[in-house]
Amino acid sequence: MQAIPSHQLTRPTSPRPSLTIHVVCAWCDRPMRGEPQRAPAAQVSHGICHPCARQHFGIVL
Ligand SMILES: [Zn+2]
Repeated sequence: MQAIPSHQLTRPTSPRPSLTIHVVCAWCDRPMRGEPQRAPAAQVSHGICHPCARQHFGIVL
């Protein structure tokens, strides 16, 4: 019976899911961060773009 080396139990993993999150403006629905197009498999998060922030809230980002 062999003991399991401790480094095999605590294997340092750095999961980097290749998850694409597209950020679109919730007001004008335009992609932010200069993204050209919305990928089908991508998750969509909503933000607000600079023109809409200024137009709707008077905030200059
Ligand atoms: Zn916008």
